[in-house]
Amino acid sequence: MAKLILATRNEGKVREIAALLAPLGVEVVSLAAYPEIPEVAEDGDTFVENALAKARTVMTYTGRLVMADDSGLEVDALNGAPGVHSARFAGEPRDDARNNQKLLHLLQGVPFEQRTARFRCVIALVAPDGTERISEGVCEGLIGFEPRGTGGFGYDPLFYVPDLGKTFAELDLETKNRISHRARALLAARDVVADMLGLRNVLTKAED
Ligand code: IMP
Repeated sequence: MAKLILATRNEGKVREIAALLAPLGVEVVSLAAYPEIPEVAEDGDTFVENALAKARTVMTYTGRLVMADDSGLEVDALNGAPGVHSARFAGEPRDDARNNQKLLHLLQGVPFEQRTARFRCVIALVAPDGTERISEGVCEGLIGFEPRGTGGFGYDPLFYVPDLGKTFAELDLETKNRISHRARALLAARDVVADMLGLRNVLTKAED
């Protein structure tokens, strides 16, 4: 069975990705199986740079096809911030509540219609033969005036999806996993994995 290494130690992500890739019949292995691989600094200027850096490093250690992701929030009124700095927007240590407070503070006085934003997720795939592919998913929304909802993580309580009339933190996990930036990037990446492993017909059959 073909093997795909996920460049993450987040078991939640591993489960989500493994479920989505199940139709391919690929063995999905996380970094939990490779404790010797060091953390890769996420200090690039773009999501693509960060995802590629992680995937390349893990590929050199494992010699296998590797998938790595990077994601964050882009707010138009802040010229795309927090962007690649989403996790540590309010500094160290990473703290979701402080990040959300900082975001609200910077948007004080900005009217609702100008609070447009999107979550973006980039997935890099790097193969042992040097082939590199990028998939991307976005989810558009607006930044609310106060946190709403108790689900999710990160900026979810402030990220309002107009079509649903709810913030990400007010959605059940199934709905979020259907429309999220990560879900969209993963769906695109699944096609790329199928291509890279020569399994495209497997995917077509599974969807018949
Ligand atoms: P990572 O790519 O999983 O490391 O995510 C980077 C940061 O972006 C997280 O720490 C969050 O602050 C933010 N982020 C990414 N995806 C989401 C999401 O689905 N909801 C809320 N925040 C997110």
